[in-house]
Amino acid sequence: MNLLDIFDPKAAPRPIGIDLGTTNSLVASVSDGTPRCMGDCDGEALLPSVVHYGEAGQIIVGKEAQRLAASNPRETIVSVKRFMGRGARDPETRRLGPYAFVEPRDDDDAKVIKFDVRGKPVNPIEVSAEILRVLKKRAEDELRRVGGAVITVPAYFDDAQRQATKDAGRLAGLEVLRLLNEPTAAALAYGLDKKQNGTFAVYDLGGGTFDITILVLDDGVFQVRSTGGDSALGGDDMDRALAEVLLAAMGYPSDEGRTPEIVRLALDAARATKHGLTDKETVEVELPVRGGDTRHVSITRSQFDELIKPVVEKTGIACRRALKDAELAPESLDGVILVGGSTRVPFVRTYVERLFKRHPLADIDPDQVVALGAAVQANLLAGDGDAEEVLLLDVLPLSLGIETMGGVTEKILPRNTTIPAGAKQTFTTYADNQTGFEIHVVQGERELAADCRSLARFTLRGIPPMPAGLARLEVTFDVDADGLLDVSARETRTGIEQKVEVKPSYGLDDDQVEQMLMDALDYGEQDLAARRLAEQRVEAQRILMATRHGLETDADLLQGDDKQRIEAAADALAKVIEGTSAAAIESGISELDRLTHDWAGRRMDRAIANAIAGKSLGDVESSVKDAAGTDAHTAVADAHASAMGPGADPSLEPPVEPRPSGSGSSTRGAP
Ligand code: ADP
Ligand code: MG
Repeated sequence: MNLLDIFDPKAAPRPIGIDLGTTNSLVASVSDGTPRCMGDCDGEALLPSVVHYGEAGQIIVGKEAQRLAASNPRETIVSVKRFMGRGARDPETRRLGPYAFVEPRDDDDAKVIKFDVRGKPVNPIEVSAEILRVLKKRAEDELRRVGGAVITVPAYFDDAQRQATKDAGRLAGLEVLRLLNEPTAAALAYGLDKKQNGTFAVYDLGGGTFDITILVLDDGVFQVRSTGGDSALGGDDMDRALAEVLLAAMGYPSDEGRTPEIVRLALDAARATKHGLTDKETVEVELPVRGGDTRHVSITRSQFDELIKPVVEKTGIACRRALKDAELAPESLDGVILVGGSTRVPFVRTYVERLFKRHPLADIDPDQVVALGAAVQANLLAGDGDAEEVLLLDVLPLSLGIETMGGVTEKILPRNTTIPAGAKQTFTTYADNQTGFEIHVVQGERELAADCRSLARFTLRGIPPMPAGLARLEVTFDVDADGLLDVSARETRTGIEQKVEVKPSYGLDDDQVEQMLMDALDYGEQDLAARRLAEQRVEAQRILMATRHGLETDADLLQGDDKQRIEAAADALAKVIEGTSAAAIESGISELDRLTHDWAGRRMDRAIANAIAGKSLGDVESSVKDAAGTDAHTAVADAHASAMGPGADPSLEPPVEPRPSGSGSSTRGAP
């Protein structure tokens, strides 16, 4: 008998949460206020993150693909997450897996690594999209209409890795509402956001990776205090340790005689035994013995514990380091959350308990907890939660920065920075005797400030006249939990200070953010060219001013017809600045550099001699800088100096000593 399938075509689309894992992926949604994972037709919630590319072009994802991996290693991509956001020349990527890679044609082509699968290039975004498509289909089968998705990423994922994950979502036809840090998702699943304040450790031991994150909950907003871990540590190591014992029992104590099939069989048996030992004290395995017989071997839990002890103890090193980075003692934590399939192992639980001196939170299935938390967040974002909770915004949607010389954007807080966040950068003056700075705060990913969204302009006045490059302007950005930005600027020699409050993120709706991101992608190359031109112009102008100033003060140090040649080169450079060729300006600069090189050395000597002769420190500082300024090779960061004329525009030079002061820290073990 067929059952009639009745559904309301006008029912609202339902948001979903996705855990796109290295080993396994899951999809969940909230119904009747409770998050739940959706299973495949057998009710299995875990989808192995494995994609097989068949001979006839068919694509197989999940368990079936996992079975094909051993016999088709190059056509079956496992752990694709390790490749997300990585370039073809990234030394890390080459060492991973048995894959063939496509040689990049040029630098641009090298930005994304490509697997060579049956002669066709396939990138990690496309592979991940295959996994996401299966999860999306699964959700559609159950919910009929799927709304936006929240996809989780490790807390340490950088901008490129996050962007790649988002792109994979789009490629799979998902509307990505937001990326959410995996540990934050786990905390949400436990409802910790309702507590308002607290410090939590999230211990995530998966198949091949270990992550430890210290999260601080401040007024309902999570902030990552520190992250750490080991990208080559997990359940697979336990499988390998046990497989060695099983192989010995099968008559293969060493590599001798072991075939890939035999090793695979031992690994599969080891994994099944490991899973069995989670609930039972003893597991009996039937193994084929060398020569044709079969043999029964029993493995006890205490035997297994002994075997995995070194693996588990390694996690302790990373945990202690993360606590130290966060300047915390285990006692000061408010809770420890267990995440990842491998935390089901009883020995892991007791180890964590000892390490953190408390019972970890483990009531929610550690395989599912991240997906469940993502579903909770998706639901909140889709408007089903109360308004206050929706403010749980833990990353900046777009970069925040200021405009510097030549109209170039200098990013101070990059997109996806977890908030609240703060950062500081120091700038210096371009012209002599500047008594004011104009600070233009912008938001966006484009290289030129004019293409970004202007958030605020303010002027810092009242600075006493100083030679160019001497003023130290410290610009501080602080974004609070509500996404409100405070910008303050302080001239550190005089202590003159000014502050403004701007509201960056809520002024933009999601469509606008999307559009800006798309623009940044579309205009990427054009933007870089414009940035380069603007920077070359600034550099050329700086050198011209320094040269002309030098000709006024130190012309007597020139020899032969040097003066004429320098003047000619300076005039030529002044002309190409008007044009649009960055390359022409660059070669004009190097020509002038070449001609002034020796002279700059003599000017420097004179400045130092003057210093010894007892001139005031300020004079010396400025004339040494002047001399240095005529020669780009000696002009190190601090000597971005020397400009003529007090009438010049108040402008900012690029940072002389960028000092990002973000509060997070990150330490990760090498694989
Ligand atoms: P990832 O986050 O890397 O995608 P998971 O959180 O899904 O990984 O964890 C996968 C690991 O958990 C595998 O090594 C698997 O063998 C292990 N695992 C799953 N269930 C159990 C269990 N009952 N006992 C022990 N280990 C388990
Ligand atoms: Mg995981």
